[in-house]
Amino acid sequence: MTGPFDDQLIRAEAEGKLRRLREVASPQGRNIILEGRLALQFCSNDYLGLCSHPKVTQAARDCISEYGWGAGAARLISGAMTPHARLERAIALFLDKEAALLFGSGYAANTGVLTALAGRGAHIFADRLSHASIIDGALHSGAKLHRYEHNDPDSLAELLRAVPARGKRIVVTEGVFSMDGDISPLKQIVSVAKSHEAIMIVDDAHGFGLFGPQGRGSLHEAGVEGETDIHVVTLGKALGGFGGLVAASRRIIEGLINFSRPFIYSTALPPASSAAALAALEIVQGEEGQSRRQRLFRNAASALAALNGAGLRASSMTQIIPVLVGESEVAAGLSTALLGRGIYIPAIRPPTVPPGGARLRLSVMSEHEDEDFVKLKTALEAIGPMPGGR
Ligand code: PMP
Repeated sequence: MTGPFDDQLIRAEAEGKLRRLREVASPQGRNIILEGRLALQFCSNDYLGLCSHPKVTQAARDCISEYGWGAGAARLISGAMTPHARLERAIALFLDKEAALLFGSGYAANTGVLTALAGRGAHIFADRLSHASIIDGALHSGAKLHRYEHNDPDSLAELLRAVPARGKRIVVTEGVFSMDGDISPLKQIVSVAKSHEAIMIVDDAHGFGLFGPQGRGSLHEAGVEGETDIHVVTLGKALGGFGGLVAASRRIIEGLINFSRPFIYSTALPPASSAAALAALEIVQGEEGQSRRQRLFRNAASALAALNGAGLRASSMTQIIPVLVGESEVAAGLSTALLGRGIYIPAIRPPTVPPGGARLRLSVMSEHEDEDFVKLKTALEAIGPMPGGR
C-alpha cells in the first residue's frame, strides 16, 4: 500500500527524524507512566506543577457543575461565557494591560494576532529562532517577513532601516526562547522597535508565571511592559492548562475581536479551562507561586550541575536547558539510552531546530526532587559519550 506521505516518511526515517507519539497513562508530573513503564521526565512545560494541582482541578470540576462542558460555538456566536471573561479581566490586570482576549491556544494567538495586524505591504521583523507559530502567522499574513539575528538588536535596527518608512512595521520576539532557554534583551529590542515606530509584540509563553514580580513575566522583569503593544501568553505552560491569551489596549483587542480569524471562526475553549487557569493564576500570584518558582530555579541549577558533572556542556539562565549534541541520530540515540534507564527526555531535531542543532532539551519543574538530578547524572555517566556526539 502506498500513501501520500510515503516519500516524506521514508526520508524522515532515513534521516533519523521520524516522530511518533508515546502514550502516557498517568497525570502529568515528574514521574509519568510512559508506554507502560514509570519514567522520570524532564520535558514538561508544567514548570510549576499546576497541571494536576488539587485547587486547579477542583476549579475545573466546580465550573463544569455550574456551566457544563462545552462553549457551544465561537464567542461572537453563542456569547462570551463568564469564566472566560473573568480570566481575561484577571490576566489583563496582572499584565498591566487594558484588556485581554482568549484564543484556543498560544499557537492560535500568535497566528491570530499577526494575520489580523499585518497584510500585504506590511513588514514583520522576527527573531531568527522564533517559534513556529510566529513564523506561520507571519507567512500566512501576506506581509514581508524579515528575520533578524537571534537576540541581536543591531541586526534588527539594520533591517528596520533598510525598509521604507511607509507600511506597517511589526517587531516580534519571544521573552524566553523555547528551544534554547535564553532570554531576549527586551529593553534593547523594544527600544529599537519604538525608535522605528514599529508595533512591538512579545510572546512570553515560557516567561509568564515565572519571571518578574509575582510571575508577571519577562516584560515586567525587563521593565518594558508599558512600551510593548501586544503581550501574548499561553495558559499551557506555567499555568498548567490550555489556551492562549493576548493582552493589549482596549482598541487592539477590539481589532482582534473583529479581524482575527482564529478567534472569530473557532469554538471557544470549554469554560472550565478558563476557571482552572484562573485558579492557577491565583496560585502563581500568591506565596505558593513564589515558593514554587524558588524551587524551580533551584532545580534548574541542580540540573545544570548534573549535566555538566556528567561531562555534557549545558548552560542556561532559565528552566529550559538545551544540551546540544549535533546530529539527529545522536540526539535520538542518547534519548533512547536514557529511556532505557527510566528517564524521558525526547530528542529535538530539525526542522524544530536548525540543521546540525539536534539536542536534548530539558525542562525542569518545581516538582523535581534532588534525587532526580542524581539519577540523571548517574544515567548519563553510565551511558558515556555517544559516538558522533559533540
Ligand atoms: N510560543 C512559544 C514560544 C511556544 O513555545 C509555544 C508552545 N510550544 C507556543 C507559542 C504555542 O503555545 P500553545 O502550546 O499554547 O499553543
